[in-house]
Amino acid sequence: MNQGSCLCGKVQFKVTKFLPAVAHCHCSMCRKFHGAAFSTYAEVSLEDFTVTAGEQLLQSYQAANGTVRKFCKCCGSSLIFESRYNRQDKTIEIALAAFDVIEHVAPNAHIYLSSKVDWFEPNDELPKFKDFRE
Ligand SMILES: [Zn+2]
Ligand SMILES: [Zn+2]
Repeated sequence: MNQGSCLCGKVQFKVTKFLPAVAHCHCSMCRKFHGAAFSTYAEVSLEDFTVTAGEQLLQSYQAANGTVRKFCKCCGSSLIFESRYNRQDKTIEIALAAFDVIEHVAPNAHIYLSSKVDWFEPNDELPKFKDFRE
């Protein structure tokens, strides 16, 4: 069982199973949304994801490119990402750092390094992509 929540605790969710794609995303939208050098999202099938509390507090922001990011209206925690590929595949991406209880999950790529900040260099062995994962 994998359980997560926002900073104020009012939004809670659970994931029964993670899909293989877990990436550190360095795109400028993720950076700004998280207020961090990169985001780390794990992909999950919609059927394996449940918001167990505070669903009405989830606020959506749709960027110019159609990607949707969801955050807690009360505390601002960035929690969910959704692109048109996710909508096509009936998946969703959840911010890995928001989990309180989590099984072993290992990020397996850096993506959108073309937008990376100058003050952070990934020094791990993970595959690195200029844009989306090929
Ligand atoms: Zn919150
Ligand atoms: Zn991104």
